[in-house]
Amino acid sequence: MRFTRLRLNGFKSFVDPGELLIGDGLTGVVGPNGCGKSNLVEALRWVMGETRPTAMRGEGMEDVIFAGAAGRPARAFAEVVLVIDNAERRAPAGFNDADRLEIARRISRDGGSTYRANGREVRARDVAVLFADAGSGALSPSLVRQGQVAELVAARPRARRRVLEDAAGIAGLYARRQEAEARLAATEENLARAAEVVEALRARIAGLAREARAAARYRTIAAALREAEGLLLLVRWQAAEAARVAAAAVAGAALARVGAAEAAALARGREREAAEAGLPAAREEATVAAAIVARLEAERAGLEAEVERAEAAAQAAAAALAQIDADLAREEGLDRDAGATEARLAGEALGLSRAAPGEERRLAAAAAAARAAAADLEGREGALAALTEDAAALAARHGEAERQRAEAGAAAAAAADAASRARRAAAEAAAGEARAAAAAAAAEVAREGGQARAGVAEAGLAEAEAALAEAVGREGVARAARASGEGEQAALAAEALALARLLARAPGPGPALVDLVTVAAGFEAALGAALGEDLEAPPATAATPVGWETLAPAADAPPPPLPAAAEPLAPRVGGAPALARRLAQTGVVAAADGPGLQAALRPGQRLVSREGDLWRWDGFRAAAGSQQATTALRLTQLNRLAAVREDLAGAEARAAGAAAAHRLLTARAAECAAAEAAARDTRREADR
Ligand code: ATP
Repeated sequence: MRFTRLRLNGFKSFVDPGELLIGDGLTGVVGPNGCGKSNLVEALRWVMGETRPTAMRGEGMEDVIFAGAAGRPARAFAEVVLVIDNAERRAPAGFNDADRLEIARRISRDGGSTYRANGREVRARDVAVLFADAGSGALSPSLVRQGQVAELVAARPRARRRVLEDAAGIAGLYARRQEAEARLAATEENLARAAEVVEALRARIAGLAREARAAARYRTIAAALREAEGLLLLVRWQAAEAARVAAAAVAGAALARVGAAEAAALARGREREAAEAGLPAAREEATVAAAIVARLEAERAGLEAEVERAEAAAQAAAAALAQIDADLAREEGLDRDAGATEARLAGEALGLSRAAPGEERRLAAAAAAARAAAADLEGREGALAALTEDAAALAARHGEAERQRAEAGAAAAAAADAASRARRAAAEAAAGEARAAAAAAAAEVAREGGQARAGVAEAGLAEAEAALAEAVGREGVARAARASGEGEQAALAAEALALARLLARAPGPGPALVDLVTVAAGFEAALGAALGEDLEAPPATAATPVGWETLAPAADAPPPPLPAAAEPLAPRVGGAPALARRLAQTGVVAAADGPGLQAALRPGQRLVSREGDLWRWDGFRAAAGSQQATTALRLTQLNRLAAVREDLAGAEARAAGAAAAHRLLTARAAECAAAEAAARDTRREADR
């Protein structure tokens, strides 16, 4: 191995990159004290893997980094590169792939050292082996520093051996051997640990096999349980689906009824509107009838006045007629007087004619008197005729007046009739109006009453709806509680059934003691360890070849006492008097205490832990889980079965209670629903 260059960068006093050429032959470095000659040798040792800061004249390895000087700040890293001529390819494998080998070591203040060979990162150990193979290296005596020759002369044999090994070129082998020995030791340690692990695993395999069998049984049972639960859920789902369909049908019918009722309410509303629309016409009719009555009253008053006037005219005509009659009687008297006078005058004329001449004169006088009388008569007859005309006119006027009177009477009667009809009509109209007003008032009262009832009904409906919502909510809670209770009951029943099946045995000569004893929870493994397969034997009878005899306690020699730290197992076990002697000599201790107490056991005594460890007086011991786990498992399962049956009884009672509560709340919800429907009807009725 031939060094050709040494490059330094930031190493100690070599703050700037610098290179030392090492040529053929002897290369020397000359300089004054403190110029850095020793730093070059240290750089050589450092790059070859020096690990001791003291060998670098520092307290820590970071001290090799340029620490700063006047006007030059400190550097963050230092690097030394040693260039080796490998043209002969004598470097060890892994470094021997180039003619030139560049070994670099770099250190930073916070990152530690890294090594590279031809730019590839390598381990410090590989670099140390590389130089050791070449009889060099950080610790090699071939690097001689000041005073080292004297040290070698006075060195101990071990140090001299190092010089010889370097000279023989086996220092690398030595380093490799150390590494191989370290690896061998580590491998042996690993092997020992692996053997321990194998032992531990072997011990666990038996337990795991039992657990695997139990797990397989558990899987079978769990699958059956899941299937049963699935069936239960299916049945519940079907029932719920049927209930949903029925409820939907009921809801549909109820909706139809609601629609019909709303349609009817609409129709009644329209009728009411129509009736209200007819009211103004009736009122108008009543007003018209009242006007007609007033007009007829006025006509009747006019006709009565006319009747009075006609009666007055008739009276006047009657008076005129009486006057005419009196005048006629008077004229007739006058007429009679004139006839009498005419007869008297005719008599006188006759007397006169007889009285002769003298009579002529009297005759002439009489004739003149007669003419005067005739003229008078004529005048009177003319007056009579006039009077007769007057009388006829009066009679005609009287007739006319009578007719008018009759007409007036008829008109008055007609008017009275019309008036009475009008009065009746008015009365009827008034009665109708009164009836209409009364009906309107009654309708108003009814409307107000209806409104009040509608308000009350609305409040009642709100109450009923709230009660229904509350009842439905409580029913839902109760249903959930019932389902939960029934689920819990079903789960416990399934577990009890599964445990009972698991614990069922083929019919034998008698019940095994394991099925007769009772053991406190937590002591199953202890009892299983204490008795093992002996518990599988039945109480002894004449027919059983193997079994437990119940023996009285030995009267002469009381059993030796158990160690003080041991708790007797007997009080934890019941139901098997045959076990009294065995249990009296069995104590329960903490698992850690058993080994220490085993030696103190007296003949026949044994100690167990709650985990299932066993220590027997004769030196036999068995760790928990290594044997008799079947008996302990059966005891645990028996205890679990008893606990499950107890829980099941409670769960059944709770489920029954929850079912009863659910039924009650279902009935209450139905009542509330009926009350709500009734309240809804009441409100609709009130609205209508
Ligand atoms: P001598 O002949 O007395 O042995 P030398 O020529 O061998 O001396 P060195 O001892 O190699 O000299 O160098 C010492 C110099 O290196 C000192 O000046 C010291 O200040 C400097 N030096 C050492 N370490 C560092 C460092 N980390 N940073 C800066 N300078 C350093």
